[in-house]
Amino acid sequence: MSGTPKYDPKSLKAEEYINDAEIRETLRYADENKDNLALVDEIIEKAKLRKGLSHREASVLLACEDESKTAEIYALAQQIKKDFYGDRIVMFAPLYLSNYCVNGCVYCPYHYKNKHICRKKLTQDEVRAEVIALQDMGHKRLAIEAGEDPVNNPIEYILECIDTIYSIKHKNGAIRRVNVNIAATTVENYKKLHDAGIGTYILFQETYNKESYEKLHPTGPKHNYCYHTEAMDRAMEGGIDDVGLGVLFGLELYRYELAGILMHAEHLEAVHGVGPHTISVPRIRAADDIDPDDFDNGIDDETFAKIVAIIRIAVPYTGMIISTRESKAVREKVLKLGVSQISGGSRTSVGGYVEPEEEDDNSAQFDVSDKRTLDEVVKWLMELGYIPSFCTACYREGRTGDRFMSLCKSGQIQNCCHPNALMTLEEYLMDYASPETKAIGEKMIARELENIPNPKVKKIAAERIKEISENGKRDFRF
Ligand code: SF4
Ligand code: SF4
Repeated sequence: MSGTPKYDPKSLKAEEYINDAEIRETLRYADENKDNLALVDEIIEKAKLRKGLSHREASVLLACEDESKTAEIYALAQQIKKDFYGDRIVMFAPLYLSNYCVNGCVYCPYHYKNKHICRKKLTQDEVRAEVIALQDMGHKRLAIEAGEDPVNNPIEYILECIDTIYSIKHKNGAIRRVNVNIAATTVENYKKLHDAGIGTYILFQETYNKESYEKLHPTGPKHNYCYHTEAMDRAMEGGIDDVGLGVLFGLELYRYELAGILMHAEHLEAVHGVGPHTISVPRIRAADDIDPDDFDNGIDDETFAKIVAIIRIAVPYTGMIISTRESKAVREKVLKLGVSQISGGSRTSVGGYVEPEEEDDNSAQFDVSDKRTLDEVVKWLMELGYIPSFCTACYREGRTGDRFMSLCKSGQIQNCCHPNALMTLEEYLMDYASPETKAIGEKMIARELENIPNPKVKKIAAERIKEISENGKRDFRF
C-alpha cells in the first residue's frame, strides 16, 4: 500500500530516512523552542559530552537567535574542533577529468543544454600532465570530479584515470589518496571503485528537499531523487566505508538542509554503523551561465558560520571540507569553527593545472574566490597557527570506516595525526615550499614536535623528520 512515507532512520528508502514530514515537524519544533533558553542550554550541555546531537537538537540551536547562546555554540565548536583535530588542516585539490554531462542541473554550467561552454575530457596523457603539475605544487590528496555521461565518462574511464593517477611518480611526488566525486551509480560500479583503491566517495545531495530537488534537476538520470539519495547505501554495500556528504547551500532553505544532512548521517550510522567521513559545505557560486542571484535561498556569512559551528558539535567525528569557492576571509572564520580540510591552489576547469583558465575561458564549474597558490595557502595557515597536513595515512593503513572512527574515539589522534601532519609538512617544505614558507614551517615543526604526548612516538617522529630533511627519505606514517 502506498501512502505518506513514515520516518524511519533504519529504512533503506530515501523518503523514509530523509523524511519530509519529520523535517517539517523538526522545523516547527525548532521554531516553537527557539526562545526556550532552558532547552537550548540543555542541548549545549549535551553537545559538551562530545557524542553529537540529533537533527532536532541541532535545528533548535540553529533557530535560536539569542546572541549569547550563539557565542556559546561558537566557543564549544572551537573547543571540539581543537580537541578532535588539533590545529591540523588537511590539504587537498580537486582534479576535473571531464565536463561532459547529460544532466540538466540548473545551478551548474556543465548542464547538457549549455552549448557554448567548452567541453573537454582529459586523455590519459593529459591526466598525467595534470597530476605532475599537482605533484609539483606539493599535493598528495586529490578529489577527482567528472560530469555524468555514460558515453564519454563511463566507469571504465574513471577507473583508468585512477590507475594513471596512482601510477605517477614524478620526482618526490605521489598522489597517495584519490577521493572520487562522480554521479550516483550501481553497487557493482562502487565495488570497482573500491577495488581501484579510492579514498572517500563523495556525492553532494545538493538539496534534501525532494520537490525542489526534482525542479533543480529537471532532466537526466540525476532527476531521480531516491536513486541519488540512496547512493551512499549502495556505495557502502559495494565496500566503500568512507563516504562524504554535502549540500549546496543557497538552493533550498538552509534550515531544511541542516536537518536533512544530519538525518542522512544518522541513517548511515543506524544502518551501516559508521557515519559520514566528511561533510562539505559549498555555497552556490557564479559560473558561466549561472548567476547566484537567480537562487533566492542564499545565506550570509554569519549564517554560514553558524551552520559550520553546529555541524561541528552535532557530528564531532566527521571531517568538514571547504573549497576555494569561499574567500580567504570566510575560510579563516570557518576554519576556527570546525572545518578540517581545505583545498588550495585549485583549478575548477578541465585541464586547468597545465593551462590555467584565461579570464574569458568559460569552462570552470564555478568561479574560484580564493585564488592563492598552494604555497601561499600553506604559509597563511601556518601564520594563523594551523599545521597544514598532507597526511593520507589512515586510508593507506586500512583505517577506514569504523576502524577510522575507533582511532578517533580512542583519543590516539594526537599520537597519530599530529606526527603524521608534521612529517608530511616536512616533506612539503623540503620539496616544494618557498624559502619564506620553509622558514616558518621549520620553526613550527620544531615547536609542534613537543606537543606529541607519547614520548616514544615523539622520538620516532623526530628521527623520521631528520631522515626526510637530511637523507631524502619520504613517506613515513603512523
Ligand atoms: S552538477 Fe554534476 S551532474 Fe549536474 S550538470 Fe554539473 S556536472 Fe553534471
Ligand atoms: S592519521 Fe588518519 S585521520 Fe589522521 S590526518 Fe592522517 S589520514 Fe587523517
